[in-house]
Amino acid sequence: MDLSPDEYARHAHRLADWIATYLRDVETYDVLPAVKPGAIRAQLPASPPAAAESLETILADLDRVVLPGATHWNHPGFLAYFANTASVPGILGEMVTAALNLNGMLWRTSPVATELEQVVTDWLRQLFGMGDGWFGMITDTASISTMYALAAARERDPALGIRQRGMAGRSDLPRLRVYGSEHAHSSVDKAAMTLGLGLENVVRVASDAEFRLKPEMLARAIQADRAQGFRPLAVVATAGTTSMTSVDPIAEMATICQRESLWLHVDGAYGGSALAVPEMRPLFDGLEHADSVVINPHKWLFTPMDCSVLFTKQPKVLRRAFSLVPEYLTTAEGDEALNYMDYGLQLGRRFRALKLWMVVRAFGADGIAERIRYHCQLAQRFAELVRAAGDGWKVCAPVPFSTVCFRHVPEGETDEAEIAAHNATIMARVNESGEVFISHTKLGDQYVLRVAVGNLRTSEATIERAWELMRKAVG
Ligand code: PLP
Repeated sequence: MDLSPDEYARHAHRLADWIATYLRDVETYDVLPAVKPGAIRAQLPASPPAAAESLETILADLDRVVLPGATHWNHPGFLAYFANTASVPGILGEMVTAALNLNGMLWRTSPVATELEQVVTDWLRQLFGMGDGWFGMITDTASISTMYALAAARERDPALGIRQRGMAGRSDLPRLRVYGSEHAHSSVDKAAMTLGLGLENVVRVASDAEFRLKPEMLARAIQADRAQGFRPLAVVATAGTTSMTSVDPIAEMATICQRESLWLHVDGAYGGSALAVPEMRPLFDGLEHADSVVINPHKWLFTPMDCSVLFTKQPKVLRRAFSLVPEYLTTAEGDEALNYMDYGLQLGRRFRALKLWMVVRAFGADGIAERIRYHCQLAQRFAELVRAAGDGWKVCAPVPFSTVCFRHVPEGETDEAEIAAHNATIMARVNESGEVFISHTKLGDQYVLRVAVGNLRTSEATIERAWELMRKAVG
């Protein structure tokens, strides 16, 4: 027998208070925990307990073990990678998802899981100002969504026969090529590894001075590949690249894809959420011509990890890539019901739609747009502070969204290795403060620092404090 509902209620009330206190006080923790690798494991018994432990004992370890070892993504000073938020409606949604324990593999294994996923992904489509004709599904991450999109691209021409015959040992199969800018996310490479396309067949196309793929170079790369007998398959446009959040020229890339009959996938894992802001939509011009788009609510749409939405205009192709129904999963509903297991690798599917539905309702389209707008303003404010400082500080890339790439160059220093070491030291000092957490990247051969705003608690005061810490770190 499980613990009783009464015991559940007693502990859940305590835990609700614990979470409320955590959310209220999150700023009092160091964003990055001051622990060394292995320190947390060393505190814990190496083997499971033979006798049952009380929930009192277990929950006490949240304070003793878990919090001291946590990097606080909910902290207002979390400005690294792409900051995100577990918002209150999202947290509540996760609680209910665990309690209901629905498995939405088939419509009948939980009609509400399937239908709420259909509804909430269609809400997002509207919230993002996308036109009609998109099928939406939720996955865990953008990496998986992009892998699915490229699997569908590979399946678009059934004559390749890959689903049935595979790729290995076939002399009749040309090399299949995927194109993306030099700044496309590594998940594109991982998808190519996984799908048997091979890393060598991800063609990295040069970008312009603002880090956007050059369409004429894409067209040329495709032509050169065809001349060699290769088979171009898909193009990935990134709307919000990981390092500097540049946006590829989607419309021009779409024209090339149409002419060449290639699948166009748009990776808007981070940047895509800005579609919720009507005046930012022109950045995504051409999106309507894509075959698939990924946007992660767990990045900039205030939804707790994990939640990625894959939209496609080609659900039949996606289904062909993944549908395989053993006898025990056949159902009487037939085509009347949607079975999400047919559109991806996994069979069991957790009820992620619930938290997303709760987030969208609790903030509303206007509230979401307002918060994203504010994050972009905070990034502009930070960029202004950097620009206004002069004395070696420089903003290193355009700031279309809520992320700023910048660095400090000591007077007269031209050696890139020295500049990199200097900025790495600034980052280490700032991060040691425990008040903020920033990360770095490279733009070409330039080592730069990044401030990414994406947490609902981040305010102008956070940004100003982060800037103060950076100036102090230069010494
Ligand atoms: N695409 C882009 C542009 C990203 O920035 C990231 C991660 O930061 C990803 C894909 C991978 O996201 P996920 O962690 O959801 O797989």
